[in-house]
Amino acid sequence: RAKAAGRNTVRVFLPPMQQEADQRLRLERGLREALEQDRMGTQFALHFQPQITTAGELLGAEALLRWHHPQLGEVAPEKFIPLAEETGLIHALGAWVVDEACAHLRAWDRDGIPHGGSLAVNVSAWQLVHPHYAARLVAQVHAAGVAPARLTLELTESALLQDFDGAQATLRRLAAAGFRLALDDFGVGYSSLNYLQHLPLDVLKIDRAFVSELQVEAGNPLAGFIIDMAHRLGIVAVAEGVETAFQRQALEQMGCDALQGYLISRPVDDASFRRWVVAHRHAPVS
Ligand code: C2E
Ligand code: MG
Ligand code: MG
Ligand code: MG
Repeated sequence: RAKAAGRNTVRVFLPPMQQEADQRLRLERGLREALEQDRMGTQFALHFQPQITTAGELLGAEALLRWHHPQLGEVAPEKFIPLAEETGLIHALGAWVVDEACAHLRAWDRDGIPHGGSLAVNVSAWQLVHPHYAARLVAQVHAAGVAPARLTLELTESALLQDFDGAQATLRRLAAAGFRLALDDFGVGYSSLNYLQHLPLDVLKIDRAFVSELQVEAGNPLAGFIIDMAHRLGIVAVAEGVETAFQRQALEQMGCDALQGYLISRPVDDASFRRWVVAHRHAPVS
């Protein structure tokens, strides 16, 4: 193939590791430029995935960040979030997500879109451990004119384990300010049942791994156990990654409070989310 390109063309075939490092560098530069040149709005967007109660009513939505790189196209969060964390850009990126979430909430209010009670945003462990995180977030949301209770902060267990006492203090502060707090991807990490009761959590999100194991043949006793445990602690149980009617039915039978997943809706852009909400206004998802 190198020959076909012409005798005088030098083709450099990079070994896979180098290609990876190369792409990493391009992504990092792209991320930095978008943030510095205030071009976030042209490359980044929030998509929204509805969460419904088992009765089929809209409970709220999760905001999921999307990046359309000008040359590379769509870049998955699994790629650019870790990069943002390693480079420290996650703080600016996270602040953008919150500003954007507040702007969407205000616009939905203005346009009379009955979008449910709460919009969830994902918070990286690196953000949470920043000493000024809570104070800055409170000021930011206040400046945006949005009540903290309308945002749910989705945290992962890794955020808590780095420095449990510090994280606990930050969470107490955020809860006191009125934010709702959710523990994301529950059950797959280093879950310690002991720490759950020491945290002011409102929502426990059951990881997709447990939900996908709910097949026709055999139930997964762990999903039911997690739901019961959440309820004993006064915490709402939300199942992630619900893809089949069977999973939905099984979760309902186990007493799960709310569902999120492709069965209900994929994460969609603002226009599609508005249409979804309006279409289900008088017709709960059944
Ligand atoms: P997450 O917070 O656990 O979000 C759920 C992920 O599962 C999303 O992937 C969503 O698109 C996907 N999902 C939802 N329903 C289904 C389903 O029925 N089946 C399957 N197979 N997948 C489903 P996405 O959007 O690619 O995001 C991946 C992760 O990236 C998120 O996991 C979250 O940890 C992170 N992320 C996304 N946006 C942000 C952000 O704004 N800030 C931070 N720090 N992290 C973010
Ligand atoms: Mg999440
Ligand atoms: Mg999750
Ligand atoms: Mg996840």
